[in-house]
Amino acid sequence: MPSAVSYPPSVGGRLSLDFANTNLTKTDLSWERLIRFLESTRIVSQERGAHLLTLPQSDPQAEALLLKARRLGSALRKVFAAMLRKQRIASEWIEPVNEILRITEGHDELVGRDSAWKIEFVAREGGLDWLLAAVARSGAELIAEGASARLRLCANPQCGLFFYDNSRTRRRRWCSMAVCGNRSKVAAFARKHALAARNAP
Ligand SMILES: [Zn+2]
Repeated sequence: MPSAVSYPPSVGGRLSLDFANTNLTKTDLSWERLIRFLESTRIVSQERGAHLLTLPQSDPQAEALLLKARRLGSALRKVFAAMLRKQRIASEWIEPVNEILRITEGHDELVGRDSAWKIEFVAREGGLDWLLAAVARSGAELIAEGASARLRLCANPQCGLFFYDNSRTRRRRWCSMAVCGNRSKVAAFARKHALAARNAP
């Protein structure tokens, strides 16, 4: 695999959160964006991704997968938002997750990645639905964690990204310190200085 291609690091810390984050924009998830997500999370290899990208969005298999992916993404966003607000999770939001879990048969397997062993889902071939299996599984695990899940929304109100707080102090506030954290610090600094300037004689 060429190392020149660098992928953005996972902000969400969980596959389902990263997937919900790719569904953040108002425009519907496109075929290309979905494939890029699958590549960046190593669900498919770059070779497989390139092959999938040759399928036009109007291809029936691609269209069906994209529809399921959009449904899953929007359902996960609703579920995670409800979990954050400690609200009830509607069963119609759970259905798109179960739909994927139901249709994807396979098994878990240990796979060596970056000198560590990870449990990965190996699907029985057939259709493209299996491409969403790991996302659905990750979402299901997070939902099943319930109130103890350290699910957070970035403290920048303009951001909207979800993440899993794996920090030792459990007080992580930003999706990324480099992006939102810094922006907030800069804004606070500017406010303080504007105030100081106003108060100056
Ligand atoms: Zn953010």
